[in-house]
Amino acid sequence: MNLDFTPDEDAFRVRARTWLADNLPTHERPPQGQAMREFDVAWQRTLFDGGWAGINWPVEFGGQGLSDIQQMIWYEEFARADPPFTLNNSCTFVGNNHGGPTLIACGNDDQKSVHLPAILRGDEVWCQGFSEPGAGSDLGSLSCKAVVDGDELVVTGQKIWTSYADVADFQELLVRTDPSAPKHKGISWVICDMTFPGIDIRPIETMAHTTDFAEVFYDEVRIPLANVVGQMNEGWRVAMSTLSFERGTAFMADQIELAKVVENLIDEARTRTGPGGKRPAIQDEELSRRLATCRAEVAALRAMTIAGISRNRRTELPGPEGSMIRLFHGELHQRVYRLALDIIGADAFRLTSIDGEGVWTGPYLQSFAYTIGGGTTDIQRNIVGERVLGLPRVK
Ligand SMILES: Cc1cc2nc3c(=O)[nH]c(=O)nc-3n(C[C@H](O)[C@H](O)[C@H](O)COP(=O)(O)OP(=O)(O)OC[C@H]3O[C@@H](n4cnc5c(N)ncnc54)[C@H](O)[C@@H]3O)c2cc1C
Repeated sequence: MNLDFTPDEDAFRVRARTWLADNLPTHERPPQGQAMREFDVAWQRTLFDGGWAGINWPVEFGGQGLSDIQQMIWYEEFARADPPFTLNNSCTFVGNNHGGPTLIACGNDDQKSVHLPAILRGDEVWCQGFSEPGAGSDLGSLSCKAVVDGDELVVTGQKIWTSYADVADFQELLVRTDPSAPKHKGISWVICDMTFPGIDIRPIETMAHTTDFAEVFYDEVRIPLANVVGQMNEGWRVAMSTLSFERGTAFMADQIELAKVVENLIDEARTRTGPGGKRPAIQDEELSRRLATCRAEVAALRAMTIAGISRNRRTELPGPEGSMIRLFHGELHQRVYRLALDIIGADAFRLTSIDGEGVWTGPYLQSFAYTIGGGTTDIQRNIVGERVLGLPRVK
């Protein structure tokens, strides 16, 4: 085992650091809506023009054809550069991190050549239409139906929790195309153009006061059959590939950014007074123990991420082990922001940023999502138990 980076990887890191120093936006990212979309796609376009989009995507689709390790190095340098925004909150997240990779793995040549370069250039924003009111953890129970009519599918039903539906151009949509088949068999994965007639998007406001989520209703939406990815009725296999990217590699940037968050929190603890109001928080035994534990745990998370990348090199698709990283990351993310509120105390009641005060509260409220999105921690535990450890299946 060699844990050092190669000379090529070190040179790549230097190039990334230099480019980021010259090109990173310095102004705040608008929190939502069209202004947020414009910010995110402009950044994606800057990456593309600079030769930094799709670092680990094949060159033929506009990517850089480099390794996951180089992708990780880029994320590390991005976090180190202290940007005014995080990567996994971007509306370009789905296209770059699981929609595009699913097309690379399962799409046909037309689908790849139309969508993949457009995702990398920032010309297409994607969202995910998997969850329904009665089908979240039990995704196989989804009921949004699609009936073949000529060379089109006619879709009627509802999705929920669709992040960035209001600003997306396309959707990775799961529909039931054969209601008579066993539940995991009659599903298809289709590319839905969000401008098609019959689509109604209704935003949902979260407790963090964001409206990134939406319910999406489909009333006889006509989608060309050519938009089916993989085979008709075989969408479950395609969806598993989407989820393996979502649980395996999609959150790599966030895992790395968390280390930076912990270091910032340690700085906060040096300047803020701790319980009792006399000494800095960092001198409080309990708070310093928790800070040290978080610092050790983000180091463990980095090691798990590197081990995951190394494992993925030997397989075509990320394996179920990604669920271990996703589970540890989700719970650690919450522990870090819980600790932040304990250090910041009453100032944390400010939700919006006033002289930097509110910057911990919004992410704290958002942190609850980390043990739900992409499959809850219970579901990740089931996957680790059954598919990694080989324990008996939960009935
Ligand atoms: C930030 C965020 C972004 C999201 N973005 C999207 C998106 O863009 N597109 C999309 O389609 N969806 C999205 N989702 C939805 C997400 O995938 C679902 O919320 C998730 O899969 C859980 O489904 P549910 O909400 O229906 O909860 P349920 O499935 O109803 O679960 C309720 C509770 O029961 C537990 N539970 C259920 N089944 C089991 C079991 N078999 N074993 C043990 N415990 C179980 C769960 O862990 C949970 O605690 C997003 C969610 C979040 C938080």
